[in-house]
Amino acid sequence: MVKAKKPKPKTCPICSTVYTPRSSLQNVCHNYKCAIAFNKKRDEEIAAREQRRQAKLRRDDLRQRREKLKTKSDWNKEAQVAVNRYIFWRDYGLPCIACGRPLNYGVRGGAVDASHYRSRGSASHLRFNLFNIHAGCVSCNRDLSGNLIPYRINLIKKIGADRVDLIEHDNTPRKFDIPYLQRVKAIFTRRARHYEKLRKRQMEQAA
Ligand SMILES: [Zn+2]
Ligand SMILES: [Zn+2]
Repeated sequence: MVKAKKPKPKTCPICSTVYTPRSSLQNVCHNYKCAIAFNKKRDEEIAAREQRRQAKLRRDDLRQRREKLKTKSDWNKEAQVAVNRYIFWRDYGLPCIACGRPLNYGVRGGAVDASHYRSRGSASHLRFNLFNIHAGCVSCNRDLSGNLIPYRINLIKKIGADRVDLIEHDNTPRKFDIPYLQRVKAIFTRRARHYEKLRKRQMEQAA
């Protein structure tokens, strides 16, 4: 004869009474009010989970429709934002590439520009080229159109004369289609996050 295992005492999740269940399926103490409260709570949890699932479906659907409406120019802007954010964290702590003055990295999107050596206007095919973009001050980048004479000197120090030469002579047009721009955005969003974590860890260690 197989001996039935004697159930171990449990604590009722509703009233906290310690009780000995009659079977392993019993979730609450022997008070029927606790059974009712327990079922009600479980039903509410199921309903809430379903509600969250529906809300997420609606959000995903909305996002998908919004993404479909985006033009190439929208994707282009978003890709550039991602690349520029990557440059911010890559160059975090470095002085302005042109004038060499210290940059205030405390203000994101404020005092530090992603300064293109060959400008986006005149060399749009290099607008995502990482050798072509460096952290610069607002005054050099915007007021002095990059302040290119010292920019060039410091760029050679930073990446070497060969690479600067390559950038200066690269006039091969590129076609950036929407899937390409989407990839640029995704890749650099990820890489920016990676550098951001790295820099913050370095700051903590230095502090
Ligand atoms: Zn109970
Ligand atoms: Zn500057």
